[in-house]
Amino acid sequence: MAEETQTVQESARKYRIEHDRPNCIGCAACAAVAPDFWVMSEDGKSDIVGCRKRDDEWEELDIEEKDYQVNRESADSCPVNVIHIKNKETGEKII
Ligand code: SF4
Repeated sequence: MAEETQTVQESARKYRIEHDRPNCIGCAACAAVAPDFWVMSEDGKSDIVGCRKRDDEWEELDIEEKDYQVNRESADSCPVNVIHIKNKETGEKII
């Protein structure tokens, strides 16, 4: 039963947020728009809360559909377009 619940939760994470952190200019717009998902770090750049950090210094986090809109707004607010979202099911790059 627990395993079944886990499977459902994982499949509900339909979208992946990706942050090109090396090119973040630290304007803080994302953290203002979606503070539950974005925080400013001591080095002046933003971080995705609870993300995986990749070897190329990008960050990524899989999110549920209910959290898509607020993260889409943070991506739209980024002046240097370093926040990307893709649909994990279709592989579509949304932004
Ligand atoms: S909005 Fe873009 S540039 Fe500004 S802190 Fe967030 S990710 Fe960095």
